[in-house]
Amino acid sequence: MHRAKLLVLAAAILALPLTMLAQNNVTIFEGARVIVGDGRAPIENATFVVTGNRFTAVGRAADVRVPAGATRVNLAGKTVMPTLIDTHNHLSQTREMLVDDLKRRVYYGVTAAQSMGQDTTPISFQVREETREGKIPGAARFFTAGRGITGVEPGRTMAPHWVSSPAEARAAVDEEAAKKVDLIKIWVDDRMGTVKKLTPDIYGAAIDEAHKKGLRTITHIYTLEDAKGMLRAGVDAFAHDVRDKDVDEEFMTLVKKNPNFVIGPNMPERGVRTDLSFLREGMSAADFAKIDAANKADAKAHDFWSIQARNLAKLNAAGIKIVVGTDGNTPYAPHVEIEDMVAAGMTPMQVIVAATRNGAQFLRLTDVGTIEANKSADFLVLDANPLDNITNTRKINSVYFRGAKIDRAAFRVNTTN
Ligand SMILES: [Zn+2]
Repeated sequence: MHRAKLLVLAAAILALPLTMLAQNNVTIFEGARVIVGDGRAPIENATFVVTGNRFTAVGRAADVRVPAGATRVNLAGKTVMPTLIDTHNHLSQTREMLVDDLKRRVYYGVTAAQSMGQDTTPISFQVREETREGKIPGAARFFTAGRGITGVEPGRTMAPHWVSSPAEARAAVDEEAAKKVDLIKIWVDDRMGTVKKLTPDIYGAAIDEAHKKGLRTITHIYTLEDAKGMLRAGVDAFAHDVRDKDVDEEFMTLVKKNPNFVIGPNMPERGVRTDLSFLREGMSAADFAKIDAANKADAKAHDFWSIQARNLAKLNAAGIKIVVGTDGNTPYAPHVEIEDMVAAGMTPMQVIVAATRNGAQFLRLTDVGTIEANKSADFLVLDANPLDNITNTRKINSVYFRGAKIDRAAFRVNTTN
């Protein structure tokens, strides 16, 4: 036979099983403990099937029918849980840096992030669309509140709209609504008495206008009085807990009036040293040394933290919907935040639900947040059980996003120097 024809034939034979594999693209994961993400007890010795980018079956080994010929992955001794969702960030403003922010998050098992009101360019909206469609491999899903609304704040960032009347507040909301923001962010804070904060007539107008446009509102508040004012005005979510004092009965009554209310507590520094050794492999020694130096006991910080911890515990006991939001641009921050939320009195399971299913619901991601058939195959494989100790979410063995295993080793090569 002619040599070229032989080669063609060999290539055809080689291509055949590969094509079939690509078409089927089925992987069976066996033996792990699976934390579904909806609060139910974990499935021990689970089997789950990923077909393409979706879970197609999840259950106890005895209950899942395993398709023949699929790739099998043994996860005995591991714990699997949904990837994490960070509902409160302030990410970068250039395309290159924003994509890098989103890829770093996936390395740490965070597959969705929302920027909260300081996005000033169309880049955020372009990247949002691309990440939602999975067009940037390995980049977390991105959401944006565009430019939020605050009072006139000389000396502070002009990224948000500075408004000083109800009419200006409505105009700012209209401008953001036209850009199709995911929600409207409103700051009510006098910045330790240095600026004039928004008054109820102004933020009330912003909330009313947002609701008329079919948008939800989220607020940065500091004091109990402003929190109550915001609740009376019908705000949909808090991006921080009350920070100046313990909440009272009136607050709890107001908060319970809105069954859809959501809070991302965004705890401050706890003032307690925590184990951050998991960061070593993803950053330079110099960067790690800086973070480690700030990782120390601080009684004053702990007192301030404790006010918010008590307030979070009250909201949690009342069954208020809680999500995870970390503020700023720290890709691994959810791992620290969820430890603080457990320290405040939530159970590890409650915190995992906050960080997964609740976050997905808040971002209106209907096919994300739990490990169930037909959901996007976004999951963490952990070397230890986070229900035993929430810091075990830091013991990441591997990250799967849209059914694909993330090349974490490549990320380490790129970041370690
Ligand atoms: Zn923020």
